[in-house]
Amino acid sequence: MTAALRLAENGFEVELFEAAPQPGGRTRSFIDKKSGELCDNGPHLLNGAYQATEKLLDDCQAADHVTWQASLKLPLWEKQRQFFSLNPSVRLPFPLALLLSVQAMPGHSWCSALAMLRLHRAINSNGCANYSVASLLNHYNIPDALVRDMIEPICLGAMNESIQTADTSTFARVLAESFASRKSARLGWFNAPLQQALITPLVNTAERLGVIIHTRHSVQSVQARKNGVTVDDEAFEAAVIALPAYASNRLLGQDLACETRAITNVHLWYRQHAGLPEPFIGGIGTLGQWFFDVSAQMGQINPSVRHLCAVISAVEVEKNNTDSHQLVDQINRELAALCGVDNAPIHTRIVCEKRATVLVRACPRRAAIRNIVNASESPVPGELPATIEFAVQRGEKAAQSVKKLFT
Ligand SMILES: Cc1cc2nc3c(=O)[nH]c(=O)nc-3n(C[C@H](O)[C@H](O)[C@H](O)COP(=O)(O)OP(=O)(O)OC[C@H]3O[C@@H](n4cnc5c(N)ncnc54)[C@H](O)[C@@H]3O)c2cc1C
Repeated sequence: MTAALRLAENGFEVELFEAAPQPGGRTRSFIDKKSGELCDNGPHLLNGAYQATEKLLDDCQAADHVTWQASLKLPLWEKQRQFFSLNPSVRLPFPLALLLSVQAMPGHSWCSALAMLRLHRAINSNGCANYSVASLLNHYNIPDALVRDMIEPICLGAMNESIQTADTSTFARVLAESFASRKSARLGWFNAPLQQALITPLVNTAERLGVIIHTRHSVQSVQARKNGVTVDDEAFEAAVIALPAYASNRLLGQDLACETRAITNVHLWYRQHAGLPEPFIGGIGTLGQWFFDVSAQMGQINPSVRHLCAVISAVEVEKNNTDSHQLVDQINRELAALCGVDNAPIHTRIVCEKRATVLVRACPRRAAIRNIVNASESPVPGELPATIEFAVQRGEKAAQSVKKLFT
């Protein structure tokens, strides 16, 4: 969508082929029949370093569809320590405020703050090379408490992968960009379902610029030909492939790295529920890694039915089997402990995106095919992980590449 929009803005005639009945891909909403709600596959968090995404939303008159924190607040919960948060003071310079806030979290001390400094130095001096994230943390003697409360949740949240296998240079980039300033560190969330907040504004803007969108068209073949390409036998001057790597590999007969991980979202609807104390909370020692108060995020004050959602990164669960029932029970128990209310949900739904993200993996250089720009999600070490921002940046870059073909 980004590539289509940017090319149309520059006067190109653009046609977009989408296999599904509607655009949206992995940022999708669906009607949950029982609640009647337009429901997202899973909550999507943004951070202030998502500059390309912010600009795109602004260009599509959708900037106010994201609620941004005024400054970073990372609310956390653990059974023993209950609620606490990483919440740097706005009255102090950001780096100092961050260190003070880390050392003030229960179970932490100046040891954690000094460890943050060691990590910062390692990242800036390129001292990460040749380490896995786990061995880097070990090498720089990063305390377990800091790993458990901050490093692991950030790694799973941003990369959908554990510190044991996540790529270190990409993780270092995530940390460096996310904590570069007070603005980049703050978090944001869509205040309407993804369909309304993100997809419809993009589609409307693209169509206003003349982009023709063909839905229910699964492209089967893209071939280079003299002076252009053919897409399912139709002639075009160029094509942008904007798919997850496993899909573009099939289409182009290439071999981009395409190992994927799932994300499982457990949606629960409660009657008479006061909700979470914060719009989202990171769970420490819980199966749910992030708990979202979807109703609060959508700006519903005291709704009669409250929608909460727990996100479990890098976990795949089949619907409607014993495991899934146990999973819902466990998440419900965790929410009961977290909210101090033992209340059975009136409705639950598990949405497991089996191939939620393509993992960061080294990959041989992508072979260039004349007039075919491959903007697939196939992050290599040092690039951003598979996120909305990475998708938007790939789209922007693809549009630039197409423009270069014709100048
Ligand atoms: C549950 C979940 C939670 C996530 N949470 C976050 C988060 O908190 N923050 C964040 O930044 N990111 C998050 N992500 C990742 C983010 O959603 C994706 O990285 C991003 O949406 C990828 O966009 P894309 O356009 O590259 O790919 P996609 O969204 O996968 O779009 C590719 C499109 O191509 C279509 N297609 C496939 N094959 C063909 C074909 N042959 N012909 C035509 N069309 C085809 C598909 O139908 C799809 O619409 C999450 C993802 C999931 C699933």
